[in-house]
Amino acid sequence: MKIVRNIFVFVMLFGIIYFLFKVDRDKNGHFIATVTANDSIFIFPNLKGPTDSTVIKPTHRSSWKKYSTGPSFGVAVLLLDTGKESNWMGLVHAFKTFGIPFKLYTNVDSALKSDVVYAYPSIDASLNPTILAKLTNYPQRGGTLIAQNIESGISQVFGFRASYGTTHNYKIRIADFNNPILKEFNDSKEREISLADPKLFKESEGTYNYSNLMGNPLMVYPNGMAFLTERDYPGGGKAYCFGMDLGYFSLTCNDERGLEAYRTYVNSYEPTMDVIFRIVKNMYTMNSKTAVTLGTVQENKKLTLCITHDIDYWRSMYNELKYAEMERKRNVSATYFIQVKYLQDWNDLDYFNDSAVVALAEIDSLKMEVASHSISHSRQYDVFPLGKGNEQYPTYHPLVRNIKLTTNGTVLGELRVSKFLLDHFDKGPKVASFRPGHLSLPYSLPQCLVATGYKYSSDVTANDVLTHMPYQLNYDRAYDEEVPAWEFPITIEDEELPQMDKRLDSALCVAHKISKYGGLMCVLIHPNEVDYKYKFEVGLLDSIQSISHVSTIRDFGDWWSARNNVQYYVSKTATGYDLHVVTPATMSDLTFFVPPTWTCSTVSTSIKQTGNSVLVKNVTNGATINFTVK
Ligand SMILES: [Zn+2]
Repeated sequence: MKIVRNIFVFVMLFGIIYFLFKVDRDKNGHFIATVTANDSIFIFPNLKGPTDSTVIKPTHRSSWKKYSTGPSFGVAVLLLDTGKESNWMGLVHAFKTFGIPFKLYTNVDSALKSDVVYAYPSIDASLNPTILAKLTNYPQRGGTLIAQNIESGISQVFGFRASYGTTHNYKIRIADFNNPILKEFNDSKEREISLADPKLFKESEGTYNYSNLMGNPLMVYPNGMAFLTERDYPGGGKAYCFGMDLGYFSLTCNDERGLEAYRTYVNSYEPTMDVIFRIVKNMYTMNSKTAVTLGTVQENKKLTLCITHDIDYWRSMYNELKYAEMERKRNVSATYFIQVKYLQDWNDLDYFNDSAVVALAEIDSLKMEVASHSISHSRQYDVFPLGKGNEQYPTYHPLVRNIKLTTNGTVLGELRVSKFLLDHFDKGPKVASFRPGHLSLPYSLPQCLVATGYKYSSDVTANDVLTHMPYQLNYDRAYDEEVPAWEFPITIEDEELPQMDKRLDSALCVAHKISKYGGLMCVLIHPNEVDYKYKFEVGLLDSIQSISHVSTIRDFGDWWSARNNVQYYVSKTATGYDLHVVTPATMSDLTFFVPPTWTCSTVSTSIKQTGNSVLVKNVTNGATINFTVK
């Protein structure tokens, strides 16, 4: 009896010790049930990869010189500081997004040959007196000078006498609705824009207050001081001054490092960035005799519509086919972000299996984009370690243990292993787009996307980044280096109440606001059901498909990133102007907006003028388009 009892005690003790040492614990030391290996991993026989290693290039500050070559046309951006603190890259990215032509200069005489000059980052009164004199004379000679963050000293050039910096301006509103550059802003969210949430931040972005005005206050803060001033000169010249570094602000928004300035997080209109750069665009088009801007939407449509589906639940893996069939019938291709879930964990079953692979092939045959929605779909992706870049299927085991804990996940593992499996099973184009679960966003994501072969992400809400336009990403979501990857922010999602079909009208309202300036409407629908969300999508397409260019993220991204390299300039002819377009390769669907007095005289089936817009269907390496002027 005693021996039996001793054996029993020994087994119990051994069990307790084994339990204490082998079972996983969360951050607080609590035990968590472990999923055993046999039922937790779906094994595709003899499949292993990727076999190559991911290497992330070290960062190097992008050179401003890249944007200082090519024809002189558009806004001359005069860089008065090219040092590390100069955020010219934010200005460049926003100009490219909004289709404002520009060139960077460091030589003042070369810059002042243009009819619109943006002096960046600021005109300091301690600048070389000769340069200062040339700049201050420029609007008197008929030029349009745009500047920002001007301190007293030369402030009278811009129409104010007093200036001081502050971090206590949270809002800006339009003061002069009749000014031509501000007339188009008739929405309340445009007429007052937001820089930071005062409930969350004791200080806002740095701004300048301008007062003692001789010129016009175009935009003001709630304290009545001016944010944007204008001074008119008798010869037609103008001087505008913003009270904020627009380059820095642009990067802050694009890097998702802003001060939670959005008034609503998603499913509504939030145009702070767009208002500011549409104003800059108007300053250019209304003050340059040869202003030509580049359109933002293919086919010269009003809006780009990207329908996206997140497959992050086993049932969605099959429901998605009903959505894809409906989309195909309408000649629409959508993006399917698929969670490559070969592991069973706290979240769900290991549904990326043989049947999922069959569904994947059907998605591809319906001409939908297959994209990655990670492997673990972890809420902690933003704090995952970077990883070694050698993670492979089937040994990479990121497991979501509960809402607060995921084990063994890495930033690179989620990207490279999901892409490997999707590329292996999907016979269509290679996976190019990524969306993390819960929009959980590591700082290293831009360079990790590039290193693992992605080009596009859709991982923030438009409101969060204060823009309804796509934009280029930066290394470490920081301020120094641009990377060849682009973000397509989400406009409308499917989880907020009331349920989606009840808020179709409000989504259409947002679409019409964005369509006024050729923005992006990116819609996220989880196919976890095929009822009210499906009805919403059908209703949306019924209403706006005709005014929209409907595209996958990848197709739009390929066009948008190619558009990024388009250059153009104008030369005078006997009867008007020639527009010279330079493209690195074959490019389709470029729209140029020209002055209203210009009439296209080039006869080509590829070119079509409608009002002041000129759609060029196809360009190979370049084209010259002739215009006569009335
Ligand atoms: Zn998801």
